[in-house]
Amino acid sequence: MREASLTRRELVAGGAALVASSWLLAGRAGAQASPSLRALAREVKGPVLTPRDSARLVFNERYADIRPLAVVQPVNAADVQACVRWAARRNVRITARSGGHSYAGYSTARGGLVVDLRRLASVSLSGRTVTAGPATHLIDLYAKLARRNATVPGGSCPTVGLAGLALGGGMGLAGRRFGLTSDNVTALQIVTADGRVRRCDADTNADLFWACRGGGGGNFGIVTSLQLRAHRVSSAAWFQISWPLSQGEEALAAWQQLAPAAPSALTSIFTIAQGRVSAAGQWFGGEASLRRLLGPLTRVAGASLSTGSAGYLAMMQRWAGCAGETVEACGAFRPERFDAGSAYVSKPLSARARAIAVAQAQRGGGTLLLDAYGGAINKVKADATAFVHRDELFCIQFYSGSSNADWLRSAQRALRPYTSGAYQNYIDPQLPNWEQAYYGANLARLREIKRAVDPDRVFRFRQAL
Ligand SMILES: Cc1cc2nc3c(=O)[nH]c(=O)nc-3n(C[C@H](O)[C@H](O)[C@H](O)COP(=O)(O)OP(=O)(O)OC[C@H]3O[C@@H](n4cnc5c(N)ncnc54)[C@H](O)[C@@H]3O)c2cc1C
Repeated sequence: MREASLTRRELVAGGAALVASSWLLAGRAGAQASPSLRALAREVKGPVLTPRDSARLVFNERYADIRPLAVVQPVNAADVQACVRWAARRNVRITARSGGHSYAGYSTARGGLVVDLRRLASVSLSGRTVTAGPATHLIDLYAKLARRNATVPGGSCPTVGLAGLALGGGMGLAGRRFGLTSDNVTALQIVTADGRVRRCDADTNADLFWACRGGGGGNFGIVTSLQLRAHRVSSAAWFQISWPLSQGEEALAAWQQLAPAAPSALTSIFTIAQGRVSAAGQWFGGEASLRRLLGPLTRVAGASLSTGSAGYLAMMQRWAGCAGETVEACGAFRPERFDAGSAYVSKPLSARARAIAVAQAQRGGGTLLLDAYGGAINKVKADATAFVHRDELFCIQFYSGSSNADWLRSAQRALRPYTSGAYQNYIDPQLPNWEQAYYGANLARLREIKRAVDPDRVFRFRQAL
């Protein structure tokens, strides 16, 4: 067995358990595998595993019982090429896994080949350019860059993978200041369905580069490396505010007027939970100016505000929910069972719509999380990259941590008259008309690019283009 060669980080991320529950084809049990899997194992340098389920692959436990045919952990792009060629030749479903956080479990496949990129997770910074492996955890990216007073804007969950995030957008607490993660990708390397490694940037394979910035994970090939623009940061200020439930509609009215139009240095999230209405956010500036800016929110009756400031890594850990922990502990893979979906709001919600939003959370079963857009996100033209949602005030995420699908569907239905579209990174397997919702006016060009680079649909899943 090659278990001893696992790195400490993989042990934390669950790699050891994955190996323990698997047959390692290089080991004795490999004899039980099919000849074609043994042939694949000979072609790649990384391990080929045959776990009984996807428990160590997927973050959403709803999909943990899916049994893939095999899981390969490539150590380089050549391994990925071998996997793609192997799967294409045999018409076996193939899917990439970076951080495993697909809401719909699309980074595993029943009876398919999972290309688990966890060994491609290095980060380096040269000048203003970050080069990172696809499976880099966000907290590792933030930690490595923070040491050099730099960052790339991204999401808040520490163990989300960089490639899955960047391919579908990537919204976080620096989003209005520096844009989406995908807006900051300057080049990438991808293995396409024909098994070729292609570099993509503004001049080389420009169509594919366009598609890979917002066109969604898993559609065009397997990304093996990304280059991103780094931004200088050293610290930021934060706020947290809450109101009595009775003031929920008024607080939402004040927030939706302020948050999407505020200076781009402010990004905030409004949360409506059962019995609680609150907002939180990050400001690239001092606490005093932040408090002044938040005046319209603090003037809503019963508001309770706290603010503070911290070094940038501490800020990222705050949003990740692991303040004060070591980066390593913060990066532990902690799967959950949930149902979630999203919808965009492009016009201020009326009093009636706000009342519905507050009432939906009070029924119990789920929470509404509203991410403010505007700022750097909306400065990019809707057709400049595949990420089409550039004219929105905010994105509503419907999140049921108790995995209450009934709550999710009825909350989405109740707000449908006031919303449109959906965020492709909050991928929702039950969403009707999902292609239009995720890609809107960019859908036709995305389909054309898909036909050109993957005519035989080597990369296919339930909501693949
Ligand atoms: C707890 C949690 C918190 C989140 N917070 C945020 C947030 O703050 N902001 C935000 O914008 N989003 C957030 N998301 C959503 C997240 O951006 C998406 O789920 C994203 O797709 C996850 O990427 P991943 O690499 O971790 O997932 P994976 O499941 O590995 O991949 C997601 C999809 O991309 C494909 N894919 C993965 N790697 C590659 C690759 N190398 N090449 C090509 N395709 C690939 C997969 O096949 C799959 O279809 C969150 C998700 C969770 C579960």
